[in-house]
Amino acid sequence: MRPLFAPDILRVWEQGQAEHPLDRALTLLHAAFPDTPRDELAQLTIGQRDAYLLKLRELTFGSKLNCFAECPGCKERLEFVITASEILLLSETGEKNHELEIGEALVQYRMPNSLDLAAVARSRDVDAACNLLVQRCVLQVIRDSISVDWSELSSLAKAKLAEHMAEQDPQADITLDLHCPACDHKWQTVFDILSYFWAELNMDARRLLYDVHTLALAYGWSESDILSMSYTRRQYYLGMVT
Ligand SMILES: [Zn+2]
Repeated sequence: MRPLFAPDILRVWEQGQAEHPLDRALTLLHAAFPDTPRDELAQLTIGQRDAYLLKLRELTFGSKLNCFAECPGCKERLEFVITASEILLLSETGEKNHELEIGEALVQYRMPNSLDLAAVARSRDVDAACNLLVQRCVLQVIRDSISVDWSELSSLAKAKLAEHMAEQDPQADITLDLHCPACDHKWQTVFDILSYFWAELNMDARRLLYDVHTLALAYGWSESDILSMSYTRRQYYLGMVT
């Protein structure tokens, strides 16, 4: 995995603007793993994908994540810092295939990946989404030592399976325990590395464009020359111009 440098940030940002978040995540990872085909990255479980996104964010912008939340009790704005290692649950993201006993049936399945979620996202309702997810991810259903079709699972069994899948991929569903010092309210909030990282990249890309604009205007340098400079050197030149 390589960090994103200034030219990568602008390229990924430009491409990702028009993309669905599922594709955006793959664009980010493909920049970090340029030798790995995009199709292969799409087959990572969502937990594995998010673990890589978290590592990429750490390599690119550092390990500290500045967060804020609004207290649902008193509306106080809460600012806090988490570190990447606090929310990286590596040991639990490796296994792709699992099994679950539901009643008389033993269900063997694989964890959902980006391709599954992209297919499910087009479903017309929750039931259709649940059916499609089970159809795509169930590898085998065994009842009385005989392999039976996934469609023989009841609606309840399918819902149970979908719930179990989510529990097996905790990296895909990070929740933070928050406490408001002003009113003592305690609550949980979801931390989504993809939207967090994308918001940061969005800000960084706009800043980079502004830097290019300022330096190109002052010195006549090309965009590629300015972006290939180290951050420190760019800041010195900007300091002299502004
Ligand atoms: Zn509060």
